[in-house]
Amino acid sequence: IAKAEQGVSWHRGSCRLCGVGCRVELGVKDGVPMGLRGISDSRTNFGFVCMKGMHFWKCMRHPDRLTMPLYREKKSDAFKEISWEQALDIAANRFGTAFRQGGGEAVAYYGSGQALTEETYLFQKIMRGGLQSNNVEGNPRLCMASAVGGYLSSFGADEPIGGYSDLEKAHCFFIVGSNTAEAHPVLFRRIMRRKLDNRETVKVINVDPRVSQTSRIADMHLQFKPGTDLALLNAMAHVIVEEKLYDEEFVKTYATFRKGKNEKTTFDDFKAKLADYTPEKAAKMCGDTFSPDQIRTAARWFAGSKGTVSLWTMGLNQRKRGVWANNLMHNLHILTGQLLKDGADSLSLTGQPNACGGVREGGGLCHILPGHRLVVKEKLRRQVENSWGVPEGRIPAKPGLHTMAMFSAVNEGKIKAIWINCTSPVQSLPNCNLYNKGMERDDVFIVCTDIFHTLTTQKANLVLPTAFHFEKTGVYGCTERRSQLTRKAIDPPGEAKPEVWIVREWASKLAAKLGDPVIAQCVKPFEGLEEGYELPKAIWDEYTQKLTAHRDNDLRGATYEVLGQMADGVQWPAPTREHALTGGTVKKFVKGIDPMADSESKDDLPYQFYGPAHPDRTLWIWLRDQADPEEVPDAEYPFYLSTGRIIDHWHTMSMTGRIPELLRANPYAYVEINPDDAKKLGIGPGDMVEIKSRRGVNILPAKVYQGPVEGMVFVYWHDQHKDRMINKVTKDAIDPGSKEPEFKICAVQVKRVSGP
Ligand code: SF4
Repeated sequence: IAKAEQGVSWHRGSCRLCGVGCRVELGVKDGVPMGLRGISDSRTNFGFVCMKGMHFWKCMRHPDRLTMPLYREKKSDAFKEISWEQALDIAANRFGTAFRQGGGEAVAYYGSGQALTEETYLFQKIMRGGLQSNNVEGNPRLCMASAVGGYLSSFGADEPIGGYSDLEKAHCFFIVGSNTAEAHPVLFRRIMRRKLDNRETVKVINVDPRVSQTSRIADMHLQFKPGTDLALLNAMAHVIVEEKLYDEEFVKTYATFRKGKNEKTTFDDFKAKLADYTPEKAAKMCGDTFSPDQIRTAARWFAGSKGTVSLWTMGLNQRKRGVWANNLMHNLHILTGQLLKDGADSLSLTGQPNACGGVREGGGLCHILPGHRLVVKEKLRRQVENSWGVPEGRIPAKPGLHTMAMFSAVNEGKIKAIWINCTSPVQSLPNCNLYNKGMERDDVFIVCTDIFHTLTTQKANLVLPTAFHFEKTGVYGCTERRSQLTRKAIDPPGEAKPEVWIVREWASKLAAKLGDPVIAQCVKPFEGLEEGYELPKAIWDEYTQKLTAHRDNDLRGATYEVLGQMADGVQWPAPTREHALTGGTVKKFVKGIDPMADSESKDDLPYQFYGPAHPDRTLWIWLRDQADPEEVPDAEYPFYLSTGRIIDHWHTMSMTGRIPELLRANPYAYVEINPDDAKKLGIGPGDMVEIKSRRGVNILPAKVYQGPVEGMVFVYWHDQHKDRMINKVTKDAIDPGSKEPEFKICAVQVKRVSGP
């Protein structure tokens, strides 16, 4: 090993894939990547990486990498290579023309939770400050907008109160709608370790309509009819109230009850509402797949443990009432006081590596400005405009179009120029047959920045090759409010460039084309800076020093200099250098600790709330009813379809599908079907099965096993083959609050079409 490592230098950074934020180091020899390993002094992953994390570096020198700008006038033309000068001229001309003709509403940016914070921040600055458009969106709308809505409406501030360090102190894990074992494998390892070391005293409850690798370590698996988990969560609250398992003092001191944002209610009202959710009634609603006593036991374990951590992802978020589901989860924590103390947290897991840092915090959604500011608040818009030095009123007061509305506007030809960065909506939007149509229009100009061709670059006019991870410098922010720096370690191949360079150069040309000094003002602070380090650092400094001080996500202490010293990065709030050098803040609302001396958290409460929560300084317990999915099975479409993730692949497989080890492990999607359902339909293992909804059809091989609950089939969504791309089938219903689509549930027909 020592010999093989001779001449290899190791460069620290974060994993490029999921939201766990594992710390890794890349080995480089003579400018060539040699391998990747976990960092053992990281408290995030303790040296471990999962299969995906271990292999992603192989994308760096993959022969399919895009290395030159590609252009075509019409979508039916072939791409031809052009120079950067030509590419940026074309992008500036087309966006400039669209803006002149239709203003800010005719242009859009659609980004990603995989983009670096500096990239998202700069894109949205040019869109808002320059092109006067709030049409700034990102794929986190598809996976965690409901979690944002849940945190805001329950706690008054986005993102979790605690973090991963609670896992080692928890005595009960409540895992709902998350196959943590496959979607967040390294975090699951920590949960499993805790369970295996404390078999008798640590309880794991899994709530999921499907048996997964996660449910295999559970003491109790509540497998239920899809879409009925709101009833189950209310029933647990019922037991907690009925058996007086709640923390009376905590509730009295910190909680209020809500029917609506401006509609307070009482504990008695809440109790009366819960009468509809006795364990007996809820067990029936959930499909009679478990007993009322199991609900009682789950509630007792949850409330009675010394510390309960809840974890969830898409099972709760990707729902017609995803925000309500999140509220009901938080309700249980507020009621029982399983919050603000070690080993207790209501922890929504993040899907992507920078959905929190770049998109939620950096202003990457149509209603959010940097620093968790809401677009609709005039005072907050003024703060941003003043810090950018652009005229007041430059940022429109109206939020832009959320993801589904944005691609509807593309369908209708209302958006004339759209920039899609590092994501593939052609595959990842629900009911994608419908939303892909607009992207084929010749009057809609599409720019894609990416490292490989995807189904979406195939619809673009201009494809710009970008630097990959470790080929550029920047920050990711993971699930637990932690910002982590990855520094450039190798050059990108060919003429691929970091996005921050691309946006700066494009914006300069746009300013010249439109003769607009305000656009020029937006990029002025970054002119002439070297792109490998100086440029992203200047962007990070502007964002953190000017725009993060007003709320709890204070990142002023987390400079590149500090982040570069920290094995794990820094958890916000981190208002000063000294504080950031301790690692930041583990619990953002903490009993008796107020690390931010000038915070607004000066009151008589025994818990110091770090930063403003709700204006009344309370946590809100919501009265929410069970709400059915938008589409439920009927005589014509008698099965539920649910979609999800597997351990070997990442999103649209544009990366993991090019890594032979991962592709061999799981080469194509299949449909999981319960043996009883399979028997009724005459389906055997390996048979080809048609899955048809009102929107589209797939044909996939069958995997018959006791996984999905009876009446439900399951397909993973990564596969981009035209017959197996499951988002042709999924439904585009959205949560009215978060605008997140209900990928998780729709109704389908299931039919055997041929043998293996
Ligand atoms: Fe990367 Fe997530 Fe795997 Fe960690 S768990 S190595 S962050 S993919």
